[in-house]
Amino acid sequence: RAKDVGGNSYFIYDETIGIKEYENLTMLNELRQAVNNEEFVLYYQPKIDIKREKIIGMEALIRWNNPKRGLVFPDKFIPLAEDTGLIVPIGEWVLREACRQNKEWIQKGYKPRRISVNISARQFQYYNFLDTVSNILEETGLEPEYLGLEITETTAISDIEYTIDVLNRLKQLGVSVIMDDFGTGYSSLKYLREMSINEIKIDRAFIWDIETNEKNRAISRTITVLAKQFDILVTAEGVETKEQLDILKKIGCDKAQGYYFSKPKATWCRLVRK
Ligand code: C2E
Ligand code: MG
Ligand code: MG
Ligand code: MG
Repeated sequence: RAKDVGGNSYFIYDETIGIKEYENLTMLNELRQAVNNEEFVLYYQPKIDIKREKIIGMEALIRWNNPKRGLVFPDKFIPLAEDTGLIVPIGEWVLREACRQNKEWIQKGYKPRRISVNISARQFQYYNFLDTVSNILEETGLEPEYLGLEITETTAISDIEYTIDVLNRLKQLGVSVIMDDFGTGYSSLKYLREMSINEIKIDRAFIWDIETNEKNRAISRTITVLAKQFDILVTAEGVETKEQLDILKKIGCDKAQGYYFSKPKATWCRLVRK
């Protein structure tokens, strides 16, 4: 920032901000290259049907495999990608790779299962989002019933009319929609009723201490009961212990995901085997 003192310009430079901006700029350049060089990989975490104790699907989670930085987790680069719009090409890559991989597994003879992909607000709101989804399905040959899209409440309510319209079209396409991190955003029961949603995922924040925290148990139970009224399936995320799983089973939760079953892995063909 320039400050005028007696005709001379002094630049008062905040080093910490400077370094942060420089790091972001460097990372942004590397992230741009990463899109071209295809440095991203998908990890897969299984979703388990609690009643039948079987794997019924998986979530694709992005990692950035950079020669210099090593394996970078999404929390470290997705926000920057969202701020700069790079999330659109990155998200398109994720969708295509997840569909391609799932189709490959099905063609190899593994039991067909739904793969779900996280969609950022900016990607969801991009003008050609629906075309991108249907083109990728056509291109990869994946049946739409084997694709799920995870969006957050914040994404959903930022433009309600638009969201309702897009969700209806996705339903027509045959693609499932999952409300991710449920309970942490501005959840509105009205929209839950009005929007075509197949599934909600109770945020990990309500699950991690569910054994001892009665309030979180009550919240999880209420979400589950309510969702059932709307024919919406319920998944608990971040399940780490047998005790948590038992409570969720009692509550009537349909599916669970978490380290108790498996961490996300680069491949899990053996798990997918019929
Ligand atoms: P999310 O969609 O809510 O994904 C769940 C996160 O919790 C994942 O972190 C997963 O590895 C982690 N997790 C799963 N089970 C457990 C558990 O039992 N305990 C604990 N402590 N953690 C567990 P990850 O892979 O680091 O992803 C973080 C977030 O980054 C995701 O949250 C999602 O919002 C975003 N993300 C990941 N992949 C993509 C992507 O391809 N596109 C976009 N737009 N966002 C993505
Ligand atoms: Mg998710
Ligand atoms: Mg989540
Ligand atoms: Mg999350």
